[in-house]
Order: sequence, then C-alpha cells, then structure tokens
Amino acid sequence: MMRIIEMGGTQMTVYNFSAGPGVLPTAVLNQIQTELKSFNSSQMSILEISHRSQQYIEMQQAAENNLRDLMQIDDRYAVLFLHGGATLQFTSVPLNLTDQYHHVAYLNSGHWAQKALDAATKITGLKVEAVPKKTDRLPEIKPLDGTPLDYLHVTTNNTIEGTAYHQVPTGVGPIVADMSSNILAEPYDINQFDLVYAGAQKNIGPAGMAVVIVKRDRLTSHPDIPAVMDYWLEEQKHSELNTPPVFSIYAAGLVFKWLKEFGGVQAIYQQNLEQARLVYDFIDNSKLFNNSVNPTERSLTNIGFSTGNSQLDQQFSSEATAHGLIGLAGHRLVGGMRASLYNAMPTAGVKALIDFMQQFELTHGGF
Ligand SMILES: *Cc1c(COP(=O)(O)O)cnc(C)c1O
Repeated sequence: MMRIIEMGGTQMTVYNFSAGPGVLPTAVLNQIQTELKSFNSSQMSILEISHRSQQYIEMQQAAENNLRDLMQIDDRYAVLFLHGGATLQFTSVPLNLTDQYHHVAYLNSGHWAQKALDAATKITGLKVEAVPKKTDRLPEIKPLDGTPLDYLHVTTNNTIEGTAYHQVPTGVGPIVADMSSNILAEPYDINQFDLVYAGAQKNIGPAGMAVVIVKRDRLTSHPDIPAVMDYWLEEQKHSELNTPPVFSIYAAGLVFKWLKEFGGVQAIYQQNLEQARLVYDFIDNSKLFNNSVNPTERSLTNIGFSTGNSQLDQQFSSEATAHGLIGLAGHRLVGGMRASLYNAMPTAGVKALIDFMQQFELTHGGF
C-alpha cells in the first residue's frame, strides 16, 4: 500500500503533502492501473467507451449514489459532475443563482474567496458585497443587515491560509459554499447550503472536474448564458450536455467507494482530527516552527508552518523532499511550508513528517 522509491541504493517511502492535485488512495491508483485497459471486463478502456453506453451510465450513477450516501444528500438536491474545476463555478454560480435579488455577499476569507469574489464582480448588473477579513479572524458567517441576498458565499477551507470554518450557523439565509479543499474531510450538513461546489483535485480525484450539489428549487433555465454553465440544463442532461469528464468521474467514483469502505465521512474525520492534532501539537511545542492561525480556525487539511527564516524554510522543504516528504513548500504567496493532509494521507505519513521536523529542529534549531 506504500509508494517506495530507490534512493542511492536504499528504499524510501514517499508521502505526498501537495496542496493540489493532492494525494489519492494507493488502492484507488492500483485499481485504475489494473482496469485501465479493460473497464468492467469490456476489453475497452474507460477512456474509450461511449458516455452513452449502459456501462458508463451505470458507473456515473453509482458514483453519484455513493457521493449522496457519503454526504447524506437527498433528492431535493441535484448532483452534477462538470468540467472546468472550481474556477469555472466561480462564474457559473452567480450566473445561475441571482435572478431574485441581483445581490450577493462574499466572505473574503482568503485567496480563493477573493478569486470567487472577483469573478462575481465581473457580472453586469449584479451587486456584490465583500465582507473583509478581520486582522486575525475569519469574517463571520451572518446575515447582511437584513438585506435579502440571493446567497452568501463561504469558502469552508482556505487552502492557502490554512484556516477553516468548522461550524456553519443556521438561519443566515441561503449559503453557497466553495468546499474544494475540505469536502468529505469533515462533516457538514448539506441541508444548510443551497449550493456546494468543489474542484476535484484535493479530496475527490483528478483535476479539471467540479462537483456541484445544488437545491433543485434554485434551478431555472438560463437560455441567456453559455449552455455548459447552465446548471438547470446540466441537471436535465445528467451532466451529459457534452461529453462529461469521464475519467475524472470514474476515478472520483473509486475514491467515493474507498471512502465508504473506510467508514465514511465520520470515520475519516476522526482520522483527520487526530492527524491534524499531531502536527499542531508538535508545532505548538516546537521552539523552531510556528503556526499563527487562531486555534479554533485552524484547517484540518492544510497546515502552514514556518521557522520565520525564509532561507531555513527553503532548506527544510528541500531536505524533506530528499527524505521522501514531497510537496511541503508553502504557496508562493505566503512562503513557509504547508502540509496538506487530505483524506488519502496515511497517519504513517504524518508521523514521518513529525519525525523529520523533530530531526530538523535538533540539527538546525541552534538550541
Ligand atoms: C484549489 C481551489 C480552487 C481552484 O480549483 P480549480 O479546480 O483549480 O479551479 C478553488 N477554491 C479552493 C478553496 C481551492 O482550494
């Protein structure tokens, strides 16, 4: 179940801490490899068979059903598998959901929230309020002074800043959530949202696809917008308005099945809590590394840390790579390091990271 490489004659286990595309379950990669040339005994690859074939349609339906089970999504919601990643949804969401008030608000909780906000701002005739970040706290999820909104946009996990909303209050009006980096990693009640979207490449599967979960009663036909962005039409066509991202849907389906076998969102959440606790505890007790995020808002999936010295940080990331701990350099906008602990990260990987940090601190801490 491990990825092992040869380095200078010795074998080394590799762990991928990349923020995205992120680590996928080894069991899923093995299955993809095994059946790549013959999907479901068809002697054809999933990359070759028609998306109109019965086999394909059943596979996509099973993927949808498993996602519905995992997130307890009932039939009041449509589940769409669309092209264009999360970024296309930054534009599709306001084009589809703003017919009533032409007024929306965005909690500007970080880099990706800002991108979502920027995309909405480009839409003619739409009033967009930005709720700014407080100095060391996330903007609060609350109604906007009694003003009726088509939706309030929340980014549940801020991938670059390493912050998250672990709780979403009720009674704040319709909420749209970008859950790209913590969907299926911690439990959220889907009934609290009018729409949830997520780029696939963090906790779901290959890049390029977005999952959109939307209340059917928010969907109306929009002949005025590009057809591939019209959620109502995509729902009518079961996400097959054009050829869907077949490989991404197939791989996502395997990840959903893997997660169900793992025990579902509650079970992985317990593992994620424990893994994050191990890393944060180590950092909080370390004399070399620090994380300045307010403890109640710390992300479970993306953990930033730094020595406070950019040269030492760079040295850390490159020495870590040489030890098989890959993808730890922080985002270019914030520097430092970032460990992304998506669902497929085994606890052994987290322990290997902490061991390495301990060793690095002993060697370079100067204490
Ligand atoms: C990665 C990410 C995105 C962008 O996803 P793409 O699929 O590359 O468009 C958007 N929002 C959040 C929160 C992300 O982490």
